[in-house]
Amino acid sequence: MTTTRTPRIELGHGDITQMRVDAVVNAAKSSLLGGGGVDGAIHRAGGPTILAECRELRAGRFPDGLPVGRAVATGAGDLPARWVIHTVGPVYGHGPAGSLADCYRSSLAVADELGARSVAFPLISAGAYGWPREDAIRIALTTLAETPSEVTVATLVLFDAETHALAERLRG
Ligand code: ADP
Repeated sequence: MTTTRTPRIELGHGDITQMRVDAVVNAAKSSLLGGGGVDGAIHRAGGPTILAECRELRAGRFPDGLPVGRAVATGAGDLPARWVIHTVGPVYGHGPAGSLADCYRSSLAVADELGARSVAFPLISAGAYGWPREDAIRIALTTLAETPSEVTVATLVLFDAETHALAERLRG
């Protein structure tokens, strides 16, 4: 049965790897083999099992890498969370329209498959991939609030104080 419920949105501040939630979303690279930013932090804090599972995904379901806008789960290794949901954001100016919103939607869909009820999201594409923060925040908040899901709490975690304050203002 498809749900008509939508997640409650919360804002978080700081390091997403420390969040006590069912699932943490990773702004991954298409290769799934690790990178900088939040991806590097998740692999560092979570330990080598996450990367080992990502290699298995490359050997199996995603030989050419995870496409932009899609999402896939692994275990969370040593993180407090149970799962990491990897999604690949568009590089600003290069992705098809709507693909940043697709990241949030497909991550929630994977969370529903897992039975995750609390999910923490980073501000996807707003680091190395260059998406303007204000627009990235608006897309994240709107998409999370409008996507039907069994996830009860979706926390958008802003890494630095300035971006967190911006998100507080935009949420109103
Ligand atoms: P992308 O390649 O999708 O742009 P980045 O990891 O470079 O991904 O940046 C995405 C966002 O994650 C940025 O806003 C960045 O400040 C933030 N970020 C980086 N490290 C962490 C962390 N440990 N916890 C939460 N957010 C983080």
